Amino acid sequence: MEHNEIASIARMLHRARKVVVFTGAGISTESGIPDFRSPGGIWSRYNADDLTYQKFRSSEHYRRIYWKYDRERYPAMRDAAPNEAHHAIVEIEKAGKLSALVTQNIDGLHAKAGNSREKILELHGTVHEVVCVDCGMRWPREEITDFMDREGVDVPYCDQCDGPLKCATIAFGQTLPQEILAQSFAMAGQCDVLITVGSSLVVQPANMLPLEASRKGAKLALINMTPTVYDSIMDVIALGSAGAIMSSVMKEFRQLTQSSSG
Ligand SMILES: [Zn+2]
Repeated sequence: MEHNEIASIARMLHRARKVVVFTGAGISTESGIPDFRSPGGIWSRYNADDLTYQKFRSSEHYRRIYWKYDRERYPAMRDAAPNEAHHAIVEIEKAGKLSALVTQNIDGLHAKAGNSREKILELHGTVHEVVCVDCGMRWPREEITDFMDREGVDVPYCDQCDGPLKCATIAFGQTLPQEILAQSFAMAGQCDVLITVGSSLVVQPANMLPLEASRKGAKLALINMTPTVYDSIMDVIALGSAGAIMSSVMKEFRQLTQSSSG
């Protein structure tokens, strides 16, 4: 990581009034949450084809597999702590510049770090809630899993409509929440800076957010471990650890804020 890039991103933030931050799995891996695309781990024990939304709806057999998988992946997310990159985004909000925080992550770490609920747009849902796939009723996750443990239940059902309950995340084959997606694109279209953190921009259609922001004249920054196919539209690219880069950016940002107010 180069100092030039850090300074450029800090200046962008300093001048901006409306910032959108877009985060992907890379910001959470630094909190110890494995990227589901990385080899090994939980994916050596499950077949992604068994975990699609269609299979979940189709039979009790697949719902049982889904819940087993879900309960296995959950503790790593429950126990994870936000890192420097998460805290940096809280600081951007406290500076009054954050218009939206769009995330592909389901771990709830942005809320845990202290970003306001109304700023966070979770494109892939959250692991901390459970939803009835028929009537849409929602519960805090622990309320349902405590019940499952207490009663020895493998697959929970809705007490209102008998529909199957599922973790409130977006499964393979399930459409993204259209309202949240539309809101994300609207915010990207209105911002003056969009910073992508920890995403290789391969997941459709969320990867179109920087493109949308760029078309409307926003400046774009990318902070990621590896280059992406969208590098050519970025104004600044800082390759490396999200936590280390974001904390350096905020240090620089604070100095700019102090020198302009003093
Ligand atoms: Zn229901």
